[in-house]
Amino acid sequence: MPEYRKDPITNRWVIIAAERSNRPIDKMISSVSKNAFCPFDKGNEHLTPPEILAFKPENSKPNDENWWLRVVPNKFPAVTQDIPPILTKNGMYFSIEGYGYHEVIIETPNHDSKIAYMSDFEVEEIIWAYLQRFNEIKKIKKLNIFKFSKIMVEVPVLLYRILILN
Ligand SMILES: [Zn+2]
Repeated sequence: MPEYRKDPITNRWVIIAAERSNRPIDKMISSVSKNAFCPFDKGNEHLTPPEILAFKPENSKPNDENWWLRVVPNKFPAVTQDIPPILTKNGMYFSIEGYGYHEVIIETPNHDSKIAYMSDFEVEEIIWAYLQRFNEIKKIKKLNIFKFSKIMVEVPVLLYRILILN
């Protein structure tokens, strides 16, 4: 199970999530081929967990190919809602169960697209997606948001970090 641990020297919290070593993403990122298999491309919607949010025409069905932006739960989450966040103190070491939300914002269906080359509309949609997910999760708990990578934007919400540091 994932866990937050406080580094007693730097006073910074880190996430220990051994389960993430099972994810196929490292192989995917290291591949430079445009034909490389990618679960986030159009037509591969069935390979991700069902979408939480999708920007698409009004008459579209859930999880169909009509999207220009999708948000799905992370299949290999660094944090999860399955465990209660309990603070444990062991001498000078603090740890907390890895409670939180870890989602993937698939910013574009274009595998090789970069934000610098996107249209104003595309960038605006990305910002709207972040805002919607932040506001949704904010209703549940305090927010602390991390952006993990350029290719996939993952949004775990780290409850309690704020509470502890304050
Ligand atoms: Zn892709």
